Amino acid sequence: MHETDRPKGDSLKPLKALVPFIRPYKNTLIVAIIILLLASAVTGSLPIVARYLIDSGITSGNADKINFYFKLVVGVILLISILSATRLYLITWLGERIVADIREKIYAQVLRQDPSFFEVTQTGEVLSRLTTDTTLVQAISGVGISIALRSTIMLFISLAGIMYTSPSLTLIIVLLIPAVIGPILWLARRVRKLSRSAQDKIAESSGMANEMLNAIETVQAFTLEKIQNQRFKKAVEAAFIAAVERIKLRFVMSFSSMFLLLGAITLVLWLGTQEVLAGNMLPGELAQFVLFTFLLASSGAMLSEMWGEVQRAAGAMERLIELLNAQPGICAPLNPVAIPVLGEGRISFNNVNFHYPSRPNTHALENLNLNITAGETIAFVGPSGAGKSTIFQLLLRFYDPQSGVISINGVDISTADPQEVRSIVAVVPQETVVFATSALENIRYGRPDANDEEVRAAAVSASADLFISQLPEGYNTFLGEKGTRLSGGQKQRIAIARAILKDPPILLLDEATSALDAESERLVQQSLNKLMHNRTTIIIAHRLATVLKAKRIVVIDEGRIRSIGSHAQLMQNDPLYAHLADLQFSSATQQV
Ligand code: ATP
Repeated sequence: MHETDRPKGDSLKPLKALVPFIRPYKNTLIVAIIILLLASAVTGSLPIVARYLIDSGITSGNADKINFYFKLVVGVILLISILSATRLYLITWLGERIVADIREKIYAQVLRQDPSFFEVTQTGEVLSRLTTDTTLVQAISGVGISIALRSTIMLFISLAGIMYTSPSLTLIIVLLIPAVIGPILWLARRVRKLSRSAQDKIAESSGMANEMLNAIETVQAFTLEKIQNQRFKKAVEAAFIAAVERIKLRFVMSFSSMFLLLGAITLVLWLGTQEVLAGNMLPGELAQFVLFTFLLASSGAMLSEMWGEVQRAAGAMERLIELLNAQPGICAPLNPVAIPVLGEGRISFNNVNFHYPSRPNTHALENLNLNITAGETIAFVGPSGAGKSTIFQLLLRFYDPQSGVISINGVDISTADPQEVRSIVAVVPQETVVFATSALENIRYGRPDANDEEVRAAAVSASADLFISQLPEGYNTFLGEKGTRLSGGQKQRIAIARAILKDPPILLLDEATSALDAESERLVQQSLNKLMHNRTTIIIAHRLATVLKAKRIVVIDEGRIRSIGSHAQLMQNDPLYAHLADLQFSSATQQV
């Protein structure tokens, strides 16, 4: 999201994107507009009532008439108050509703994105867009529309009013308008540009803060607090400076609009007084004229103020549109092919070549050919960066290979719905993600429609039941954000319980490299054995016990399959494997 990617100029086109969000509530909008029209008409009648109050009441000295006109004024004021309050309610409701819809839609859209989106977009930036940018849109989509409409209507009513009262004075006002409005519009345009850059800066600083807070332990472990503070401070100060630039312009704008408008009114008032002195105008008529001029000026001022807001909102909307329109590269084809699943998972890789979109010149996988039969347990071994995790990414359809075919149960997964592919694969990652909720709900993420009994049964199979029961509130214990209240082995068993609950035919297991103590290791292995039973399992292996159990071990190096065989065969025939086994499995050997 860079400045250059956006349409130039200061068009309000981005606001068009609001139309589909307003459409479902058009009845509310229509009612609000009708009330607005009524309120404007009634407000427009105030100067006329005031004129009669002065010319037929006060100047005539007739107490009955004076009382009558005052009652009329009170009536008009009451009506204006009721109508304005109702309009405010409806319009504010509309603004809140529209922004809630936009937020929900953007969030849903962001959740659909594939990993390449997140490679270039900071999550904190998205969060900032969701909160601050939508708030700007909210400011105009409800109250803003209302003020703009009311001011426009009042502008016309008061213009008609002054014309009706005194055509000659009106002419002077009409001549003054461009002198007043011109500079204000020019300033508003500049305000918009500056506010866009201020919003960008805010989003950047939020992105940075979010990243650092997510890695708070690393930041503290490396005592990076000071450096991070400075970086954040720099980002926040940049946002402040951008905001000050905008405020400076607003200052000039506010001063000029106030001075020009009030100056113009005073001029008209002076001219009108001359007319009254010359006997060409009654004092009540002058009052009516001045009130209309005041209405005209205040609606003009409101409109110019709103113009600034509308410009800001258009800037914010531009970025929201980028998020709303972001299309994931990986999505379901028009007619996705269903993957036949009868409790089994066969996987085959045929001449698969793949490079990450951000590294077009480096092969992550090259000419990969492999058939995995249903129910087989197969282990992947290879040096760091060999491409083992990449194979998992492809199997989950986070990316599609540039050439070659990956199929599950005979169906090319690039012709299937990614959601379906993922529904028949469970992943037990190296680092378990624990969500900020209870143990029960954390396991239920494996299959959200599972009942409590099923969740508990999965926990029992995963040897997690005992430690969960010992937590202060058992299954209802809050596990803390990122599961900071659990040990490594406990987190792994939560992940295994999730996979058991999901019960898919294919299991991808990225074995943890961190060594567990003997007892945890035994419990994890025990639960893994249950999980792998009767399932096609691919393991990125780091334990001797695992490779010994696997009938076939695939040695991967630099994106290519180097050799396939049993542990004993590979120890003899593949020096790289023998070397890796020496390095990786030596520490685990004692535990087996
Ligand atoms: P390890 O055992 O250390 O986890 P691995 O065998 O799983 O390693 P991969 O993560 O599959 O290795 O990475 C294979 C290659 O692809 C590496 O060179 C890595 O730098 C690169 N790579 C991984 N993810 C991405 C990405 N999102 N964008 C670009 N390159 C990537």
